Amino acid sequence: MRFYNINDRKETATFREAVLQGAAGGNGLYFPISLTAKDGAFFDEIDNYSFTDLATEVLYDFVKEDFTRGELQDICGRAFNFSLPLAQVDRYIYVLELFHGPSLAFKDVGARFLAEVLKKIAEKAAQEITVLVATSGDTGSAVAKSFYNVQGIRVVLLYPSGKVSPLQEKTLTTLGGNITAVEVQGTFDDCQKLVKRAFADQESFGGKVLTSANSINVGRLLPQMVYYFWAWRQLENEQRDNMIFSVPSGNYGNLTAGVMAWKMGLPVKRFVAASNINRVVPDYLQTGQYNPRTAVRTHSNAMDVGDPSNFVRIREMFGDDHKRISQLIQGFVVNDEQTAEAIRDLHNKTGYILDPHGAIGYMGCRHHLQEGETGVFLETAHPAKFPDVVEEAIGESIDIPIYLKEIQNKEKQALQMPADYKEFRQWLSGHVV
Ligand SMILES: *Cc1c(COP(=O)(O)O)cnc(C)c1O
Repeated sequence: MRFYNINDRKETATFREAVLQGAAGGNGLYFPISLTAKDGAFFDEIDNYSFTDLATEVLYDFVKEDFTRGELQDICGRAFNFSLPLAQVDRYIYVLELFHGPSLAFKDVGARFLAEVLKKIAEKAAQEITVLVATSGDTGSAVAKSFYNVQGIRVVLLYPSGKVSPLQEKTLTTLGGNITAVEVQGTFDDCQKLVKRAFADQESFGGKVLTSANSINVGRLLPQMVYYFWAWRQLENEQRDNMIFSVPSGNYGNLTAGVMAWKMGLPVKRFVAASNINRVVPDYLQTGQYNPRTAVRTHSNAMDVGDPSNFVRIREMFGDDHKRISQLIQGFVVNDEQTAEAIRDLHNKTGYILDPHGAIGYMGCRHHLQEGETGVFLETAHPAKFPDVVEEAIGESIDIPIYLKEIQNKEKQALQMPADYKEFRQWLSGHVV
């Protein structure tokens, strides 16, 4: 399967090329040239698959120019070494828990897959790969944990000084080894600019392979399709033909992957684009007008995005036909007060503890679920990552997982860097050689 640039259909790449390049020319996004529906034999067998088997079945078509089925199976087996359980929280509502990975957030699914893919690429080419990422928190934690000690890979994480939470800073700066944290005296945008300039300037780094790991990379997007099949598979037969997914969304990679799974034949009736008050997409679904805005801060800060980078992929799948898009996807907007209420309400009724992002998914599900339907919402982070909001909402303290406890006592190690490309280039060319 080849991938084309959404902005220029003539430009295509194999999976390997698309992964290494991250973005296509002119900052375009890569997309698979076709999404073939899985056949009856696949759905007949699905109940017998492990998560690794399922991932191999779903993903093989996309990677077969570059990897054998055995290599892919190996990549998936190593990447998905944590559980993705489905739990019932209400008569007709289930939660798909995506937070059992090493950084306790769903981004581990994409980041771990990408790490294993890059490791194989480095191995085959007998060449080291340097991954450059600008992060405002969550992506960096998942990438740092997923790429830690992966052979053949060095990671450079740039984050804005004073603009990530103390806990997140610890997740970025305490690993060491092949992970280098660079604390930039500037904003997240400054970090992104440094990364972009380094990519545009590859020759300064002596032919070393530089790549990105941000959420537009197809190596992170594709594996996210798998857990939609996985959730569906865990439902009873009579629930399967009448189900909806509610997806708490920010950059819309997660929802894009769900719609891709639907295109590949997963019989989902509808999706809910569940959003905080950064409501560009719900507004587009309602009006057909897409108006990016400056993001505002909310309790669900991993979803504070004013111009979601993946949404063009969804538009692309429907030839930008607003009517068809809004028939499949319904929007729902939840403010901070309602987020806290949802956490309190579900905890009072069942004891289940949501995080602020999952709470928005839950509300979207409750709102749009119709009679006779089964709803699944995605829980994208462990509630202990957001203790302030969650403990205030439920009125008790919550258990902190060992990983979060441990890093609090570790020492921060970060390289100080002004928001200045010349200095960054100088340091990086010494670092990648
Ligand atoms: C990144 C993130 C989201 C948003 O996912 P997108 O794919 O960007 O829409 C939701 N919840 C959590 C916890 C996240 O880290």
